Amino acid sequence: MRNGGGRPPGFWGELSQLVGAVGRAMGVTLRNFFRAPVTLRYPDVQRAYPDRFRGILALTYDTETGEENCIGCRLCEYICPPQVIKVEMLKSEKRNWAKTFTLELYACEFCELCVQVCPTDAIIMLKTFDLATADRRELLLDKDRLHALGLAHEASWATGNRLRDMQAPPKPARAVEGAKGEAKEPAE
Ligand code: SF4
Ligand code: SF4
Repeated sequence: MRNGGGRPPGFWGELSQLVGAVGRAMGVTLRNFFRAPVTLRYPDVQRAYPDRFRGILALTYDTETGEENCIGCRLCEYICPPQVIKVEMLKSEKRNWAKTFTLELYACEFCELCVQVCPTDAIIMLKTFDLATADRRELLLDKDRLHALGLAHEASWATGNRLRDMQAPPKPARAVEGAKGEAKEPAE
C-alpha cells in the first residue's frame, strides 16, 4: 500500500535521516576547514621533537678531547635483542677502541637497550628519524656513518649514564633526611 503521493512507506523517515547525516558530515567538514593544519611541509619545515624522542642511533666523540667515546666493550652487541650490532675491539695501552662497528638499522627495534648499557655514552639516540630510503643497504651503518650522524643531528636526552642514574637507589643524604622525617612522627 502506498501513501503520501505514491511514496513507499517509510520514505520520508529515511529521507530525513539522510539529510540529517549529510548535514552532520558537512558540519564536521566546515569546522575543520577553518582549523589550523596539524601537518607540516616536511622536509622544508621540521617539527620540534620532545627531548626524550628516540630516533635513529649514532656514535659520539668526546667533546673535550675529540676522541671517539666507544671503547669497543661490546656490551651493546650482547644486549641487542635482534643482534643488529657488531663490534670488534682494538686493544691499546691507555684505552681500547672499536676497530669496527656496524649497526643494521633496518632491523633495529629502537628499544634503547644499547644506549642504556653503554658505559661511556658512546652510543646514543637522536631527535630525528630523517634517514628514509628505498635501499636497505643504506641502512647498514658503519662506524664513520654513525659518527657523522651524531655530528649532524641533535642528541636525545637519554644517555647510558643518565638512564642508570635514574634507576639507582636514593642518595645517602636523601635516605638520612627520610629517616629524620620518620623519627619526628608522633608515637602512637
Ligand atoms: S635500539 Fe635495541 S634493537 Fe636497536 S640497536 Fe639498540 S639494542 Fe639493538
Ligand atoms: S657503543 Fe658503548 S657499549 Fe657499545 S661497544 Fe662502544 S662503548 Fe661498548
